[in-house]
Amino acid sequence: MDDRYECPFCGEPGEIDLDSDVDFDAPGDQVFVQDCAVCCRPATVTVRVGPDGTASLTVNA
Ligand SMILES: [Zn+2]
Repeated sequence: MDDRYECPFCGEPGEIDLDSDVDFDAPGDQVFVQDCAVCCRPATVTVRVGPDGTASLTVNA
């Protein structure tokens, strides 16, 4: 499962590979720093895993 987010610096869409990066057996917040492919600035992507195994993304500069 991939999920998409918007770069907080330039607005370009980015993508995080939830299957390989996120541990769905560990509910809570997991934080990833993703370098934007376009502007190369690091976006902090917080993936919140719920107890039912769903994930929601929050992106911060
Ligand atoms: Zn960017």
